[in-house]
Amino acid sequence: MISLDEFATGKLRSLASRDLLRTLRTSEREDGLTIVRDGRRLLSFCCNDYLNLSHHPAVKAAAQAAVERYGAGAGASRLVTGNHPLLERLEVRLAALKGAEAACVFGSGYLANAGIIPALVGDTDLILVDELVHSCIWTGAKLSAATTVVFRHNDLGHVAELLRSRRGKHARCLIATDGVFSMDGDLAPVHGLAALAAEHDGWLLTDDAHGVGVVGGGRGSSFVEGRKAEVPLQMGTLSKALGSYGGYLCASRPVIDLIKSRTRTLVYSTGLPPASAAAALAALDLIESAPELVARPVRKARLFTRLMTLPPAESPIVPLIIGSAAAALEAAQALEAEGFLVTAIRPPTVAEGTSRLRLTFTAGHPDAEIERLTAVLHRLGLRGGR
Ligand SMILES: *Cc1c(COP(=O)(O)O)cnc(C)c1O
Repeated sequence: MISLDEFATGKLRSLASRDLLRTLRTSEREDGLTIVRDGRRLLSFCCNDYLNLSHHPAVKAAAQAAVERYGAGAGASRLVTGNHPLLERLEVRLAALKGAEAACVFGSGYLANAGIIPALVGDTDLILVDELVHSCIWTGAKLSAATTVVFRHNDLGHVAELLRSRRGKHARCLIATDGVFSMDGDLAPVHGLAALAAEHDGWLLTDDAHGVGVVGGGRGSSFVEGRKAEVPLQMGTLSKALGSYGGYLCASRPVIDLIKSRTRTLVYSTGLPPASAAAALAALDLIESAPELVARPVRKARLFTRLMTLPPAESPIVPLIIGSAAAALEAAQALEAEGFLVTAIRPPTVAEGTSRLRLTFTAGHPDAEIERLTAVLHRLGLRGGR
């Protein structure tokens, strides 16, 4: 065997022995709610399609019309010929939604953070990162070569202490957090972070992948307490509540101009396909005109947390912490046997010993199915609790 295959085989064996092997399972999503797997129809409680817009007739029609008119792919980087007018329209709309001067659309949310962070800070700079942020923020921080210091989850006191002790030693400072935490469903204290950032000349970056379209009246985590937090770097994705694909940053005009000129994941990667932009635009029309729709995923999640006697959900995401990876896999399997699809989340996505079922609620989940899910969870003795 060549050493490459030996390496792969050894790694796979080690992962499997710890219940950490991941495999892709073919899943056909036939609407915004159900999944067909191995010929069985399952009700999904793990898609991030919070408003079920990926299958909304208006969103699909917009994508179809764009494909028909402009083709399937963008043809080149946005700086060459891939800058379709739909992308510029989308940027204007995103900036307006987020109360920012300007926006930049990327190929994906992951590409956005992997590119934005190294474009703004470098090896003489400081990044303060919440311990539970998404993988793409760690990737961006690593690529930037800045000194990266982790703060305890949502702990403003710890952020203040780190700013006092370390800020003075660095030219620039970025503070990075998820707006809504992807595996825990709680919100960042965005107003508090914004105040600390302003006080210490730090630049606050929020990753609002799970905020836009579902919290803050659909405008995201900068808008949750009924007033806008000053967040100079609001990043997000078009791939979750908007039901499409792609990432974005909303910021001031000079910051966006710099990002468009200097971000490697934008400059050296092909532009977003026009159909993805058209779908996102149609989704924004729906989000901006239907506050009742936008409020529904959190309401559904709160029905669940009430029935489970858990603290009220802050977002459409509710974790049920199980413990070991093996137990989480077993729990997911038991739910699948009942017709519910809830993927087990294991390390390194979450910390050792906190493997969990991560449930996501969408506008279209029938209350009766949420009630049946909680009955099944009770019967299986899966009560969660942090
Ligand atoms: C999903 C996710 C991303 C990545 O977005 P994609 O558009 O799927 O690449 C970034 N940040 C967070 C918090 C996410 O949950």
